[in-house]
Amino acid sequence: MDTASAPAENGEGWGFPAISTVGKRLFWTLNGPLEDAIRPYFGPDGSPHAVSQASLMEPPVSSATVRIQCINDWEQIWADQHWSCGEAEWNTPEQNPGRLGPRPDDEALDPKLFVLECCGQKRPWAYDTQLEVTAQGEFLTVHDYVSAVHPWLMARRNTVLDALGKARGDPGWPSETKLAVLYLGPGPLNIGHEEKWAWAMGMMMARAAERIHAREEGAVEPDSI
Ligand SMILES: [Zn+2]
Repeated sequence: MDTASAPAENGEGWGFPAISTVGKRLFWTLNGPLEDAIRPYFGPDGSPHAVSQASLMEPPVSSATVRIQCINDWEQIWADQHWSCGEAEWNTPEQNPGRLGPRPDDEALDPKLFVLECCGQKRPWAYDTQLEVTAQGEFLTVHDYVSAVHPWLMARRNTVLDALGKARGDPGWPSETKLAVLYLGPGPLNIGHEEKWAWAMGMMMARAAERIHAREEGAVEPDSI
């Protein structure tokens, strides 16, 4: 996977892609099969809602790389926590074999070293938790995205619950926790408590309103002087 070498494929040639208006409105839960997980997605008769065929991003893109924020966060927090453990004793792999080393699939001659294990725990690698989603047609639709990403996220639900808890210094969250995607695209997916969705939406709308207000203020300022 090498998205960096193909910017046009990701729509980056036309400006940085952002989540579309339709995408922003999706209420996407992670507690069961896709059929019951997203609003609005299926109509009352069970057929997909028109929004499922809308573009996920603006401008439209042909592919997207999906990553999960809490899993990225947990690896970073773990690495920070264990970097200072017994510092002096393990400066090189020779001094403490098994503790420091390259990423498992890094074949560079002089690879970057990471703390692989510490305090009886293995590093919670985040780099391999990613999914490349490609458009089935001209551009990536809501349907292309959620039909690929929902089962992928559900298969990682326990890992997500674990990371959500541990990244906050708590035990992993219990399996009955109601989860939802609080923010999707173009950066890593923000997953959290289902009831936080309305709050996250409110924040997003408040920020948008603030930007509009600031633009309007900016526009009238020269005249009012
Ligand atoms: Zn440690």
